[in-house]
Amino acid sequence: MGKAPEEEHPVKALGWAATDPSGVLAPFKFSRRATGDEDVRFKILYCGICHSDLHFAKNEWGFSKYPLLPGHEITGVVTEVGSKVQKYKVGDRVGVGCLVGACHTCDNCENNVENYCPQQIQTYNSQNTDGTTTYGGYSDHMVANERYIVRIPDNLPLDAAAPLLCAGITTYSPLRYFGLDKPGMRVGVVGLGGLGHVAVKLAKAFGTIVTVISTSPSKKQEAIEVLGADSFLVSTNPEEMQAAMGTLDGIIDTVSAAHALAPLLFLLKNNGKIVMVGAPVKPLELPVFPLIIGRRMVAGSAIGGLEETQEMIDFAGKHNITPQIEVVPMDYVNTAMERLAKGDVKYRFVLDVANTLKAP
Ligand SMILES: [Zn+2]
Ligand SMILES: [Zn+2]
Repeated sequence: MGKAPEEEHPVKALGWAATDPSGVLAPFKFSRRATGDEDVRFKILYCGICHSDLHFAKNEWGFSKYPLLPGHEITGVVTEVGSKVQKYKVGDRVGVGCLVGACHTCDNCENNVENYCPQQIQTYNSQNTDGTTTYGGYSDHMVANERYIVRIPDNLPLDAAAPLLCAGITTYSPLRYFGLDKPGMRVGVVGLGGLGHVAVKLAKAFGTIVTVISTSPSKKQEAIEVLGADSFLVSTNPEEMQAAMGTLDGIIDTVSAAHALAPLLFLLKNNGKIVMVGAPVKPLELPVFPLIIGRRMVAGSAIGGLEETQEMIDFAGKHNITPQIEVVPMDYVNTAMERLAKGDVKYRFVLDVANTLKAP
């Protein structure tokens, strides 16, 4: 069988990749496929630095493949579309999040939750159908099937919109699916980092009453005055936690470090739900008693499907929601990773790719 035209004429690309588990990134030349019939090609302007990028660069989850070129919060402007592309044209403002492919035949894909497809192709560190490795957004351009392209609303700046493509959908999807999107509901957000601060903004836009739960009392003022949370609980303060028992309809737990679930479960009303979106490597201890006596639920959620991702970013546009970002040049990426590991960022680094990525 002959090769498809897009495989015969790869296009040169430039990015920054890690070549070993030190996780140190350096300029890296590679190629992307030519634009296929259903593909959209775009110049990358910005890419957010997600905590997953750090885990992958350093092989902390144990399945990184090198060279590893991270980035799945990617925004830019369309430069070319394939002959069968219907939704996009040159010049459109678009993005790509965590996925660039899936099987399109399983129940998950048919129900628009490609994010749960067992054959999903992730934006980096995954395998394309042609056997090549996927490379992410710390690079000059991107090409993906139009199903995986998201349109960025005109009123959202492309730098601040980028983190919505992972952090936004990761928190929006569970708020919707678990019914924590009704005005007047009481929603808790555990952890105030890249995911947590977006969760606060989205939950507020749904009209819920938001409580941030954190180990750091120093974050209280900003959580309330800048991010718009209604109240703040210091999880290490037993009196505060005791006083808030049984008050929340649901909790979005964004913490990826080991932490105790019991105190959080007791914050829930009967029938309340805690949804895990952070991913602690080691199992957490799950006390069953608070589940039984209050018919409470512990659940998990992973990003969202493409239809829902578009819905989320349109919702963000309508409510003028953007993450808080620190824009940094490409050659700052290793320093940014070190600072991210220490939690030293408010609240997401975004790489200024187009202005600062230069050939070595
Ligand atoms: Zn991510
Ligand atoms: Zn599928």
